[in-house]
Amino acid sequence: MADIIRLLPDHVANQIAAGEVVQRPASVVKELLENAIDARSTEIKLIVKDGGKTLIQVVDNGTGMSETDARFSFERHATSKIQKAEDLFNLHTKGFRGEALASIAAIAHVEMMARTDGEEVGTHIKIEGSKVVSQEVAVVPKGTSLLVKNLFFNIPARRNFLKSDQVELRHITDEFHRVALAHPNIAFCFYNNGSEVFNLPVADFKKRIVHIFGRKTNEKLVPVQEETQVLKVTGFIVRPEFAKKSRGEQFFFANNRFIKSPYLHHAVAGAFDGLIRQGTHPGYFLRLEIDPASIDINIHPTKTEVKFDDEHTLYAILKSTVKHSLGQFNVIPALDFEQDQNLETPYNYKDKEARMPDVTVDASFNPFTEAKQKNKGTTNYTKTSARGWENLYGGLEVNSPPVQHSNIEFESETVNSTIFDLDKDAPDVPGTTFQLRKKYIITTIKSGMVVINQSRAHQRVLYENFLKNITIKEAISQQLLFPLTLNFSTNELHILKEIKESLNSVGFVFERIHTDGVEVKGVPVLVSESEVQMVMEQLIADFQLEIPGDSFSQSDMLAKTLAKTLSVKTGEVLDESSRMSLVNDLFACKETTLSPFNKPTYITITENDIERKFI
Ligand code: ADP
Ligand code: MG
Repeated sequence: MADIIRLLPDHVANQIAAGEVVQRPASVVKELLENAIDARSTEIKLIVKDGGKTLIQVVDNGTGMSETDARFSFERHATSKIQKAEDLFNLHTKGFRGEALASIAAIAHVEMMARTDGEEVGTHIKIEGSKVVSQEVAVVPKGTSLLVKNLFFNIPARRNFLKSDQVELRHITDEFHRVALAHPNIAFCFYNNGSEVFNLPVADFKKRIVHIFGRKTNEKLVPVQEETQVLKVTGFIVRPEFAKKSRGEQFFFANNRFIKSPYLHHAVAGAFDGLIRQGTHPGYFLRLEIDPASIDINIHPTKTEVKFDDEHTLYAILKSTVKHSLGQFNVIPALDFEQDQNLETPYNYKDKEARMPDVTVDASFNPFTEAKQKNKGTTNYTKTSARGWENLYGGLEVNSPPVQHSNIEFESETVNSTIFDLDKDAPDVPGTTFQLRKKYIITTIKSGMVVINQSRAHQRVLYENFLKNITIKEAISQQLLFPLTLNFSTNELHILKEIKESLNSVGFVFERIHTDGVEVKGVPVLVSESEVQMVMEQLIADFQLEIPGDSFSQSDMLAKTLAKTLSVKTGEVLDESSRMSLVNDLFACKETTLSPFNKPTYITITENDIERKFI
């Protein structure tokens, strides 16, 4: 048999390598920014168009390149940063593989202009799909400018795989944040489609964070500082009360390089345990300085995942350092010793009979009824009640039987037994509902009974309600007495602007959107003022993953998020009238059987099913 093994031509090898290095425009941005930093630049400009699909340009004022180096830099494994394998263990540069430029040039139209300090003129090179199209002497500023146009022009499959411009832009912005945060001593500018997105002057770490994430971030930051033999940690954590629904603001930098480390994240998150609301994530900006010999950066081609020699020690130090900061800066609420003992009911009174006070009072007047319910865990429900959906059935509440209060008082197990008692005596009472384990609502129907998942059912009701509002554009907005100012980062505001019209159509009214926040003037009737922040954060968190292109899918997503956030949850006690109205509302929906997330809303148990159990 003839020999069949051949070496791949360079341009093919480069294209294959490109698959690893360049996943999307943001990967190019990362490589170019890192090259500019390695070239000791003090000012770096990033320019992108159409989410980086049409153009990515990075202009720096660094060392530049000689004519020969400029040409040579596009060869595979061509690097000025390491010479021998041992150098890998003492890395002080971002790059070292010598692959980035070769890979990028294999899959895009690339132009480079470079000049070193010592030379009067520089070089201008054009390369398309690994082929040098032209190379000439040119009068250019000192430093390097790299233009990458039409990414993946020769790999249509990859090009089609790219997401919408906004999504790609968001990835680029994330990358820009990471690099800019790691290097506050370098000035950065970022232009998107001709307009300036960021202009970051040289600053210290804290100011850089504030320049990127908005003025209000300043007061949210708590400093972190610790120096041990193996590790130096500096930076900031975000006060627990500002923990966000989205995971956006979590940054580790190891020796000035952004890294991802689920393991170290766990250490920080552990320090926040019990201090942040459920479903929110701690924010942190932590810089770790470690002996480069104890880090292996080489395990991932795009170099965000790293391996540390002594992870356990780092974990322990990090966790205790963050805990220490939380405590030291009084972030953990102090124990309240001054609480008035008289306000608390001692436990030994708990099971005693209530005694009427020895004074004459108007027996029908009981100002504490509401407070009493609250103490028994109905706070959530009272809050939901204010949202108004049950008010439609307000009349029912007046007529509802007194049994309502006893239901509230019992733990779910007790409620459970009540069901059986009542059912035996009064089967088929139309409109009787029970709550089971603060999760299900049970009601009877002709053929047997239905068990409704309260949270999913409410999601369905809210979802259809919001969707209708959006479609007929007749959302009822409640005006806030004082506009509410909410702070968001540039990235988050970007998302808000994208979905602003849909938000308007459900009833959000914005007075102004400025550089680091929005003023909310009106909110949908179903959203209470105290929930606005949470709702908006959830919306941003959901849309961060993807902003659907067409307005229908956008509305659909918006309605889903609102329904998810505002729905009654498992664990909330619902009184008789709320249960009734939820049942009625659910069965008035267009789709009754599934939640907006395609989960069953209820099941039926027929008399037959029950009888079969008794055989
Ligand atoms: P690496 O960064 O891993 O060395 P690259 O392919 O990114 O590999 O770059 C190859 C070489 O080109 C670098 O080692 C460096 O010498 C040179 N180079 C790339 N970008 C710049 C720049 N902006 N300024 C100066 N030199 C650069
Ligand atoms: Mg590089």
